Amino acid sequence: MKKFICSKDCIEACFAYVDGLSIIPENRENTGRFVCSKLGKFLQREVFSSDLSFINVNGKQEHPDLQEIIKSIASYISVNKDKNILFIRGSGSLGYMMNYWDLLFSHFPNIYFVDGSLCLETGESAHIKDFGVYVNPPVENLSEVDNIVLFGRDAHNVSPHLYSYLKKLKNDGKKIIYIDPILRKTVRISDRYIRIKPASDNFLAAAIIKNLSLDDIPYDLNYLIEKCNVSENDLSYLVDTFKNGKTGIITGYGLQRYKNGENIVRWINRLAYFTNNLNYLYYVRSSKAGLPKPDIKNPTINISEILSYLNKGFFHGGIIVASNPLISYPSSKKLEELLKKLTFLLVVDTNKTETAEIATHFIKVHGMFAQEDISGSYFYDNRLHKRDKVFDKLSDIDVIKAISKELEVNIDIKFPPIPEKKEYETRKYKTNSLQLLENKSEGLRLISGSHYSYLNSQRFGDFVENFIYISPIDAQKYNLTDEEVVNISNENGTIKGKVKISEMCDEGYLFCYKCQDLIEGHPNILTTYTPTDSFTGIALYDTFVQLEKQKYHQ
Ligand code: SF4
Repeated sequence: MKKFICSKDCIEACFAYVDGLSIIPENRENTGRFVCSKLGKFLQREVFSSDLSFINVNGKQEHPDLQEIIKSIASYISVNKDKNILFIRGSGSLGYMMNYWDLLFSHFPNIYFVDGSLCLETGESAHIKDFGVYVNPPVENLSEVDNIVLFGRDAHNVSPHLYSYLKKLKNDGKKIIYIDPILRKTVRISDRYIRIKPASDNFLAAAIIKNLSLDDIPYDLNYLIEKCNVSENDLSYLVDTFKNGKTGIITGYGLQRYKNGENIVRWINRLAYFTNNLNYLYYVRSSKAGLPKPDIKNPTINISEILSYLNKGFFHGGIIVASNPLISYPSSKKLEELLKKLTFLLVVDTNKTETAEIATHFIKVHGMFAQEDISGSYFYDNRLHKRDKVFDKLSDIDVIKAISKELEVNIDIKFPPIPEKKEYETRKYKTNSLQLLENKSEGLRLISGSHYSYLNSQRFGDFVENFIYISPIDAQKYNLTDEEVVNISNENGTIKGKVKISEMCDEGYLFCYKCQDLIEGHPNILTTYTPTDSFTGIALYDTFVQLEKQKYHQ
């Protein structure tokens, strides 16, 4: 049996043993012995799919042996040292060894890395500004609180172990309050659900602080309430919650996917500080805390600039590792058109994804199951562990070694020692004053979120909740009946799907599961490269659309 730690980017980092096709979960503090149903599917998809590496020759995918593909890749890189090459590395597998891709390409100053990400960096930036660090307290601290407030954290869908722990804490008598514009299944364990206007949690945090007279907030309370659209009754409930007991605060990642995302996270930090709950404030921690980081000096572009750089023909070639931007990046139709124009596009991934399909070179690797590695969790502070190579199949490190040998680049590949666990030190809040940044709606907003059954662009088979969710008020406004087909469009393109009239949404916004194939297209066709206020992320949820009924769809 091989020791395994799942390094998928759902923040959990589960321990298990893998024996052939059997996955045996290891006991996990607080939440018992289970891994999610996705893990078995990842195993099938990454290890046993029949996808083959290829070189595209005149529009035809040919499958020479790997060495020939590597030679062709190395030849392009060494001949084109005077041409700009874009390098996108995803966080598909969060293992430490993925850093060696960065180290390999750091030998070529014409290869441009991407600053910022679609994931966590806006919130991280908020924590660095407020505390100088981004760490989470031990999860066990939650057992000391009386209440837990979830700001946009839909634990049911994105974090199964946290959800299970919250369930236990609720059974132990903690009060759970779930605040989210989208009413999702986490409501099942909540004592109270509070619907909030998208991108306005900063106004709610300010309203609570003002109501408790903890800081001088230069706005009228009614103004703050109006901006977040929370009822006076809900506000009093929250104020009483914070007044009467220790309160854990768990912040979701969706909050940072707005133009004012950093400001939102910072106001939640401020609320935790003023209510003396810093030891119960959770956002994210570095999953590789304590491990060495490669020193990379390559030129960079910001993630929000990818499309504009491609558009002006700045890049001659591209390298995409462990990422499927044709599905998971904004404006993905436009991105596809521009990536297709590159002379060279290497994609390395566990599957022949949509992005791999347009590559000039594709190498199939076998992901976390084929790679001895070190991995940790974004949320839990005690999960940095080593895992075995479970299957003797082609791994990222095998490919890195082969390319570096061909390019005559010397990379010293080794495991760092696992750092000793550091005791958590209470964060020191450093911010004196903080402005409130408003995010004004520009019409009908489209929000796309995660679903329990898959991760980002790593989808499996049929998906039954494949709808565009719309509020009853908006359905009436657009004269729609349930499951009617609509076109949703903006300047980036059009997608087509069935609407589901649902209390999940309120007036003014739609919801659908991210990266899903609708009848035509997927949500990221419509999202834009608007940077967040930290300039390290993308405001994916500031996507505004027009909706049109499709009269003649069969
Ligand atoms: S919950 Fe996340 S870390 Fe755990 S097995 Fe599932 S995908 Fe992997």
